[in-house]
Amino acid sequence: MPEGDTIHSSARRVGAALVGREIVAIETPQPRHRNDRWPERLAGRGVRAVDARGKHLLLRFEGDLTIHSHLRMGGSWRVYRRGERWQRSPRRAWLVLRTPEHEVVQFDGPVLELMTEARTRSDARLAGLGPDVLAPDFVAAAFLRRVREDDPTRGIGDALLDQRNLAGIGNVWKSEGCFLARVDPWRRTGEVSDAEALAFVEALRPLMQRSVERGGRIVTFEPGGARPAAGPGRDTWVFDRGGLPCRVCATTIRERGQGDDNRTTYWCPRCQR
Ligand SMILES: [Zn+2]
Repeated sequence: MPEGDTIHSSARRVGAALVGREIVAIETPQPRHRNDRWPERLAGRGVRAVDARGKHLLLRFEGDLTIHSHLRMGGSWRVYRRGERWQRSPRRAWLVLRTPEHEVVQFDGPVLELMTEARTRSDARLAGLGPDVLAPDFVAAAFLRRVREDDPTRGIGDALLDQRNLAGIGNVWKSEGCFLARVDPWRRTGEVSDAEALAFVEALRPLMQRSVERGGRIVTFEPGGARPAAGPGRDTWVFDRGGLPCRVCATTIRERGQGDDNRTTYWCPRCQR
């Protein structure tokens, strides 16, 4: 599933291709959008900005209209030079924007809607988002307030995945961040200190920012910082390494579904308390 760093990276690439460029065509190939008349409604309008907010991407057009997208599990944004072959079937395209130089395509994106600027501010899914972990003006106090308002009996791993507490965290970063903060993801939120909650964010922000620079490719080691020896499994500390030895203490990494959505959490029972 695309996480916040992937969406921020997509917003940069899509913005570079669209902002200030002539939009020569807009297509919404899926039957669900057949009667929406987006090409007519957006005709002649340029793209002012492309913003990421957590895992949401917003294409802001001139004249108060915005396309809101959320990729859910398997969607993606791609930017192609005109004439370049697409890596996915055109049947999976939901939105195509053409400029004289580029084709910007959203594939497999089930949330795609055109709304006014005012509605982007009142829409419950957007207005309810917690602070974006990747925002340059991230305010730690606002994040802590959301966490403290949450159910204190909820597992901290589950709470940190909740976009209302912290926007942009997905399943990979949830497990990696809890490991880096040395916090057991199953500990109750009410038993996690402010310093521990902040350690999660402080460990992840530079890693996620680097991931944005690398086009959304997740790298969970800091250059020159703590880095484990190469070993079997994914190039992560704990994510997707269930049953393998911890890179720090060699204890077997555990995995179990957590929260209402039963998203798999990975952790080291010795390093994380
Ligand atoms: Zn360990």
